[in-house]
Amino acid sequence: MIQVYKFGGASVKDASGIKNVCNIIKNNSNPLVVVISAMGKTTNAMEVLVEAFIQQNQTQIKNAYEAIFDYHNQIVQNLFDDGHPFVLKFDQQIKKLWERVQRNPGLDYDFEYDQIVPFGELISTQIVSAYANTIGIENQWLDVRKMIKTDENYRDADVNWGLSSQFVHKNMNFEKHQLYITQGFIGSSINNITTTLGREGSDYTGAVLAHILDAESLSIWKDVPGVLNADPRWYPFAQQLKEISYPEAIELAYYGAQVIHPKTLKPLQNKNIPLFVKSFLDEQQEGTVIQSVESKEVDVPVYILKRQQLFITISPKDFSFILEDNLSEIFAIFGHYKIKINLMQNSALNFSVCVNNVRDVKKLIEALQKKFVVRYNEHVELVTIRNYTAAAIHEMTQGKELVDSQLSRKTARYVLKESEWEFK
Ligand code: ADP
Ligand code: ASP
Ligand code: MG
Repeated sequence: MIQVYKFGGASVKDASGIKNVCNIIKNNSNPLVVVISAMGKTTNAMEVLVEAFIQQNQTQIKNAYEAIFDYHNQIVQNLFDDGHPFVLKFDQQIKKLWERVQRNPGLDYDFEYDQIVPFGELISTQIVSAYANTIGIENQWLDVRKMIKTDENYRDADVNWGLSSQFVHKNMNFEKHQLYITQGFIGSSINNITTTLGREGSDYTGAVLAHILDAESLSIWKDVPGVLNADPRWYPFAQQLKEISYPEAIELAYYGAQVIHPKTLKPLQNKNIPLFVKSFLDEQQEGTVIQSVESKEVDVPVYILKRQQLFITISPKDFSFILEDNLSEIFAIFGHYKIKINLMQNSALNFSVCVNNVRDVKKLIEALQKKFVVRYNEHVELVTIRNYTAAAIHEMTQGKELVDSQLSRKTARYVLKESEWEFK
């Protein structure tokens, strides 16, 4: 049966990472689809380039482009001999990025973003595919934009399942090829204009392909042993969760556990396809499996920290109540700026939210201010404790300055002033 593997940026961040990925692919004898992200932190670097392009700052465009070029070029030099035909192909491909940023930008930032950032995934999959073929791992590279069809909501496009299914089946033939290498995160509209599915969207692409292909499983390969009960970069006592149900995993992803993109679970759950989260550093380790498990639930507290949040409080100018009309207007403004709400709270007079402190947040506030009184608090963090206990709450909140809190049966959430985290 078909399997789908997804490799994130960390797994292909340098030549030795790519060799390791090739080893993992080689050890699988099933028909396989491999979805790969942009290398390392390339998407962030692409965002810097887009910003310079929009601002038309030529020095910054050149610097940002050169950083991207040098990084990839170094990897290509390490993987291929001088005369290898791919070296020339790489030069041609990366030049297309340079040509793209020599044009004049239009007024739609989201559109321009989607025409530039996907170079990261296109180039990374071309490098991995060519290298794998060179070392005898026969594979077919595929442009995922021929398969994943979306609407034209740039930077946050929605997948058109009917069309995508049609085009996946049209483009993939497992009688012909046992191994396909393709991109995550990107797609195209019915007019063949490139779109993206939202940051960190490659996990989701893996799930979409697994769903459409009725895959046996989706494995996402990470730099952690599996899903842990906290981000180990932040919380030193994080322990691995062996098995999680789909609904619980959806909750964890929704609250911001970075290890899985929130949209990933539904397409898998609908077809009962298990999701394995495994370490690319140690293939033999079991990892975490997410599947339908009825009885066994996660029984330890799970901690999720979202940094660099903004806590915004909105109230009507005329001291009237926050009613449905106001709320739908407020949501429409958030929707317009594509700003996702991480926590919301309302009282008679106020509506408060916690959001990521992203590019358009100032514009959002200005738009809200036209209609409402808006106060906001920068430099806050959002801590969520799933399956909380009194001890867990104490550990997370002691010595912290509380801005807001929310408690439900299974979940405790705290908006805290940013401060150092020290665990003993
Ligand atoms: P990718 O390379 O696939 O894009 P990410 O960097 O997006 O991977 O996600 C992996 C990272 O997620 C890990 O390095 C880890 O620091 C972080 N992380 C956050 N929460 C968790 C968690 N609950 N379990 C495991 N890892 C987590
Ligand atoms: N490269 C994209 C990002 O960094 C998509 C992904 O890696 O999932 O957001
Ligand atoms: Mg990622």
